Amino acid sequence: MFVATKDKLLPTTITGSLPRPSWYRAQMDGKPFTERMADRQFREQYLDTVATYVVDQARAGLDIVTDGDARLDEGVAGRHWIAHVEERLSGLSAPELSGYPIHRGKKPGEIMYEVFQTRMPRAAIGKVCRHGLDYHAVWKTGQGLSHKPMKFGSISAQLLEASMNNRYYADRRELVMDLSATMNEEYHALADAGCPVIQLEEPCIHGIAGTQPGAMLTAEFYVSAFNREIHGLRAKTEVWCHTCWGNPAGQRTRAQAFSYEAALPYLDQLDVDVLTFECKESEGADLARIGRAIGKDKKIAIGVVSHRTLQIERPDEVALLIRTALEHIAPERLIISTDCGFGRDGISRLHALYKMVALVQGTNIVRRELGLPESDVLAADPRLALIAEL
Ligand SMILES: [Zn+2]
Repeated sequence: MFVATKDKLLPTTITGSLPRPSWYRAQMDGKPFTERMADRQFREQYLDTVATYVVDQARAGLDIVTDGDARLDEGVAGRHWIAHVEERLSGLSAPELSGYPIHRGKKPGEIMYEVFQTRMPRAAIGKVCRHGLDYHAVWKTGQGLSHKPMKFGSISAQLLEASMNNRYYADRRELVMDLSATMNEEYHALADAGCPVIQLEEPCIHGIAGTQPGAMLTAEFYVSAFNREIHGLRAKTEVWCHTCWGNPAGQRTRAQAFSYEAALPYLDQLDVDVLTFECKESEGADLARIGRAIGKDKKIAIGVVSHRTLQIERPDEVALLIRTALEHIAPERLIISTDCGFGRDGISRLHALYKMVALVQGTNIVRRELGLPESDVLAADPRLALIAEL
């Protein structure tokens, strides 16, 4: 059901993660969130970090905020996006130094080879069970710092499975489905706590649609596994599915040309309220296809700023992309976002802030054209400028 975006035209948000402040040195160290929050140093640094993220998003004028994924430890190229969940599931081995299952032929000399070296996959060695993810407590802590709705995002079970080895389940499909059922329990606890948007990040669907993945793991199978993972959630809250073409160290995970074309019929079968699409780097090349393929029961969030480039997009550039999207998607169904998160070892806090500002300023240009109310962008208020004119 629509909650955070209900009756809102062109609401703005970000994917989720934000760059860690340099002074945020405390780590979760594999412990449950509620236990870690009993440590004075961690508690202070964690709360101050989330408060900083919330203020930056408020200054930019975003409508839906996130906690910046502040729970994720500092690892190379955002490895804790995956490892944070693995550390809090029982039934898995300790990190292993070889055999990364989605290594995909990367070679020494390539940045992604080094990234994958640091991933240290775990293996399923018993039945997987939840063990201290505490998503409901993480969300409540963040939401308590903002009056804006706070979205909570996490890696999908199927990508989690693609990142681990299996020495217990009969086959990979069984492991995907059990992980999906396990994470579904966690998301229900989060929805029951009142979270207004739950975002599952990166199904495997767009990565394999149009390729020959083999009989075991097809796009059809991944659709059914994803819908198992979110089963029953839409009756309680708003459910988003985030997709992009990669983020570790700001890299695409596939070097070749990328398009959603082959994946769209499958993505449309996901039982979600909102689908997000990376659109900035492709300059909206798929927007017409997205508009045609995605059913009217779903809203569409488009990325209008890139997480892979340091150059801050200009507001008029953002507005141009939104206008193109509006040729194919009604304003009631359009949400303005980023291509992916800013906190995976890619860009700095300064870049993240001004990309968020440009995102809202660009949206305001289009809102003005449509006669819609604009958001207040405190970071761009000339009355607060320290230098009158440069
Ligand atoms: Zn992404």
